[in-house]
Amino acid sequence: MKKITIAIDGFSSCGKSTMAKALAKRIGYIYIDSGAMYRAATLYAIRHHLIDEEDIKEEELQSSLTDVKVSFTIEPESGKQLTCLNGEVVEDQIRSMEVSSKVSRISALPYVREAITNQLQAMGKEKGIVMDGRDIGTTVFPDAELKVFLTASAEIRAQRRYDELKEKGEKDINFDEILQNVKERDHLDMTREVSPLRQAPDAVVLDNSHLTHDEQDAWLLEQYLRAASE
Ligand code: C5P
Repeated sequence: MKKITIAIDGFSSCGKSTMAKALAKRIGYIYIDSGAMYRAATLYAIRHHLIDEEDIKEEELQSSLTDVKVSFTIEPESGKQLTCLNGEVVEDQIRSMEVSSKVSRISALPYVREAITNQLQAMGKEKGIVMDGRDIGTTVFPDAELKVFLTASAEIRAQRRYDELKEKGEKDINFDEILQNVKERDHLDMTREVSPLRQAPDAVVLDNSHLTHDEQDAWLLEQYLRAASE
């Protein structure tokens, strides 16, 4: 079976990472969460007061991008992959509502996309990876042997996100606010000028609104077996 690149793109909170992680574990591939890179860059901008509700200090942000070093580490007890910003584990902070509400504005900036795309391409150059995001099959790895485009209704995605945040113990969560954030991110991600969220013409589409994890994992494994043996 040949070593391939697997790109999983789709809307916010579709369960891309759950699906991608499960496959990577099963077939011994490396999982790379590209959204975590954009989230970490957003956290950096928030912490350095480079973004507020209205403005982004673009010049400062652009010149400080070389100081944003994102890496991943594995938590020994759980085997969970954790995102680090300049060596500090920021896994929970990058999933907060504050970061979620600002990330699409940061990820729309062409120089942010360029810096992160370069890093993602370097991480995946040996193949044997499952990478999820918005533009993996269209821009980061347009030659990926397997491209999946995942989708589900906005309400179902908001409910999943709500349950996830609740389980993490996040206070003050509101379903309508989450639904609005999901819809806003869809809109911003689809309408930005650079690398908008698009289904690659050669992607296989899966709507997982009414699928169980086991059903979607089985579907993805089948896609992988087909693509890797071609
Ligand atoms: O995947 P996740 O929801 O964590 O991604 C957070 C945000 O990062 C997205 O809403 C999108 O704005 C941005 N993103 C992107 N391109 C990617 C991955 C994520 O623009 N490849």
